Amino acid sequence: MDTLVAALRSFLPGDSVITDPVRLRTYECDGLTYHRATPGVVVLPGTAEQVARVVRLCNEHGVPFVARGSGTGLSGGALPREDGVLIVTSKMRAILEIDLPNRRAVVEPGVTNLAITEAVRDRGYYYAPDPSSQQVCSIGGNVAENSGGAHCLKYGFTVNHVEACEIVTPDGDLVTLDRMDPGYDLLGAFIGSEGTLGIATRITVRLCRAPEAVTTVLAAFESIEQGGQAVSAIIGAGIVPAAIEMMDALAIEAAEAAVACSYPEGAGAVLIVELDGPAEEVARQFARLQEICANAFELRVAADPAERAAIWKGRKSAFAAVGRISPAYIVQDGVVPRTSLPAVLAAIDRLSAQHGIRVANVFHAGDGNLHPLVLFDDEEPGAGERAEVVSGAILDLCIEHGGSITGEHGVGVDKSRYMPKMFSADDLDTMQLVRCAFDPRGLANPGKVFPTPRLCGEVPGVRKGVHPLVESGKAEQF
Ligand SMILES: Cc1cc2nc3c(=O)[nH]c(=O)nc-3n(C[C@H](O)[C@H](O)[C@H](O)COP(=O)(O)OP(=O)(O)OC[C@H]3O[C@@H](n4cnc5c(N)ncnc54)[C@H](O)[C@@H]3O)c2cc1C
Repeated sequence: MDTLVAALRSFLPGDSVITDPVRLRTYECDGLTYHRATPGVVVLPGTAEQVARVVRLCNEHGVPFVARGSGTGLSGGALPREDGVLIVTSKMRAILEIDLPNRRAVVEPGVTNLAITEAVRDRGYYYAPDPSSQQVCSIGGNVAENSGGAHCLKYGFTVNHVEACEIVTPDGDLVTLDRMDPGYDLLGAFIGSEGTLGIATRITVRLCRAPEAVTTVLAAFESIEQGGQAVSAIIGAGIVPAAIEMMDALAIEAAEAAVACSYPEGAGAVLIVELDGPAEEVARQFARLQEICANAFELRVAADPAERAAIWKGRKSAFAAVGRISPAYIVQDGVVPRTSLPAVLAAIDRLSAQHGIRVANVFHAGDGNLHPLVLFDDEEPGAGERAEVVSGAILDLCIEHGGSITGEHGVGVDKSRYMPKMFSADDLDTMQLVRCAFDPRGLANPGKVFPTPRLCGEVPGVRKGVHPLVESGKAEQF
């Protein structure tokens, strides 16, 4: 490591190579603080060429590297390696180009999600994917996680809003992957690859035109079942709202305690529905929405942007807010088909009662993306373990109902052990072939996404014989 650090110092400015043990600890975890490791060395390159040089040096020394944006990830994706280099993009924060006629912006990876919208808002444009962490999370992190947000129901995830990415490949080449490239969709493969296929150094994003009209509605229901039925009825009526978010009574209690959002008292569930588009269409959809939500005991409509922000305040603060009602909690992220929401929510209730662990439900109801917040007291012996059991059982429920172990927070280090529950050994080996094609030496963010080691009981059943694709000569085993 000493020789590598000396080589890094030869071309990076002094303050861009961190080896001081106290400063290194700043980077020991991401938003999933449960997993921690002190990085071997941290570098803060200022240009794509510097990132490429760092990666080439890692290759020369056989040292693993991990990319980090703002460290808000919730699956331990940016967890560093003690024997590796953490490459942080926080000095790469330039918006390089704004091209409104072509509705594009070209940005460096450390630019925050919200900064893109702020740069074009005055001219009537915005960047659509809106993770709740948008004030701080980086666009490079968004690309790596294929991040979503409340408005992705109508507008799609990061993958639908990235036109091109310049990347540093795991062996240190600078290449550009473009949506217009013929042949395999390598840009599609890269987006959501959680830092395992290279490091994004320049990203071309799509800009959207701000809608003519926006109507934001808060509907309060007596029960979560009634809220769930309203969600199905809205989608069934052919309305695609920009967002449909739901919070249950416990999540409302937390939000109330944290930000005094003044949601209707006594609600078993609230639904936030945002309609946007041409004014006439929004008015028609709103009339239909009122009919569908006739059994809501309060329907609040935002009269202006300040009231809209007040409605969103409780929802946007929900994760942090549970800190007000519980000393510790796990943020889970799973997906179920929308029609399974009532059954899965009822099953979560039963799990909660069975294990004596409270669960607050906050979710992107429109696309069945659950974010159960599993609450526990870390001072109470055994409570953390029970919370883990409940949290894992929720993922099992998602799989049983034909959903997924992650909707938007990624697999990272946290959920790699669940991958074999969703995918067969053949599936996982096929994914490994893709990874190895990009990164034959396994230096880019190793230990993430896939369960390792294979023989430690994490994979049910040990593979016998070679992979069918390898056997048929269609792929090479690295
Ligand atoms: C309060 C809160 C709310 C959140 N809400 C949402 C939400 O609504 N929707 C959602 O999708 N997520 C949400 N997240 C999760 C998180 O903010 C996103 O995953 C975000 O995209 C991470 O960005 P980051 O810059 O913090 O990435 P980091 O945490 O630094 O890294 C995340 C992953 O990306 C990789 N990476 C980082 N930069 C690059 C790069 N330039 N090239 C290649 N790989 C890279 C890292 O190696 C790691 O695997 C939330 C998190 C918090 C704390």
